Amino acid sequence: MADQQFDKIALIGIGLIGSSLARAVKAQGLASSVAIATRSEETLERARELELGTEYHLDAAEAVRDADLVIVSVPVGASGSVAQQIAPNLKPGAIVTDVGSTKASVVAQMLPHIPKGVHFIPGHPLAGTEHSGPDAGFAELFRGRWCILTPVHGTDKAAKRRLATFWEALGSKVDEMDTEHHDKVLAIVSHLPHIIAYNIVGTADDLETVTESEVIKYSASGFRDFTRLAASDPTMWRDVCLHNKDAILEMLARFSEDLAYLQRAIRWGDGEKLFDLFTRTRAIRRSIIDAGQDTAAANFGRPDATPEK
Ligand code: NAP
Repeated sequence: MADQQFDKIALIGIGLIGSSLARAVKAQGLASSVAIATRSEETLERARELELGTEYHLDAAEAVRDADLVIVSVPVGASGSVAQQIAPNLKPGAIVTDVGSTKASVVAQMLPHIPKGVHFIPGHPLAGTEHSGPDAGFAELFRGRWCILTPVHGTDKAAKRRLATFWEALGSKVDEMDTEHHDKVLAIVSHLPHIIAYNIVGTADDLETVTESEVIKYSASGFRDFTRLAASDPTMWRDVCLHNKDAILEMLARFSEDLAYLQRAIRWGDGEKLFDLFTRTRAIRRSIIDAGQDTAAANFGRPDATPEK
């Protein structure tokens, strides 16, 4: 257990990320009260059944009353309307943050609504799964993972330190970046891989020569690893694509060029080029394992891991 850091925390949105925050805050005893707000009766009822907070609201503005820390965990396209809703009830001196996967768009949507005297510090935990909703969360989600803060100009240093300490208490490592840089980095490490996965799974689904049953039966040959990403929440990823458009389009253009290079190497039987690329990419996998960001176990440590593919 860490020390209690806040008197009251308000969690707006209680899906995978919001409910993981709720569980981690509870496990670490980081606040004496936790107000939860979500837009649907059904999700709110589930949060109550799971005992994720100490008060429950359908109105986000009610939840933020007297809160010292407000964390908005909704799809990025909804951040502006949430900020507008909560603004009148934000306590002076409160910290408002978010967990959205894109940052420039979230700042553009939320900042205009944040009253003077309230510290707005956008954030993004690089932690998640392909599951959604309050049942999907778990307290350890943020452990050992990065949380990137993208403070706006003139952010209060003490408030920033307080928010960083909060994420550290959840087990995260905290980094800081400007919003544009964040969006570029995330476009390559997260957004592009998801788009490629959605695309390849869609292509396989469209192939008339391969029956669906064969795609599923032989999926362990590689296809299966893409399906995890392609099973991610459609609302969240629709919003990510729409709200990080420029960076994603730039990365997609580079990707297409590199794919054409690979295509040419295969067409002309240029084994050396292929071998060089595959050697370089294998080293990247090694460095991810060395950085503690994945397991070295074969096939991601799946119990049915077999040496051959
Ligand atoms: P989630 O499990 O689908 O939960 C979404 C939450 O937002 C629910 O409480 C939902 O309310 C609410 N919500 C949905 N649409 C809304 C709208 N239009 N207006 C107000 N509230 C709305 O989503 P999540 O995975 O926790 O993602 C939340 C945020 O975290 C997103 O911005 C995402 O980019 C970011 N993020 C996600 C991951 C990941 O791997 N999933 C990782 C890092 C960051 P109801 O259920 O009541 O409708």
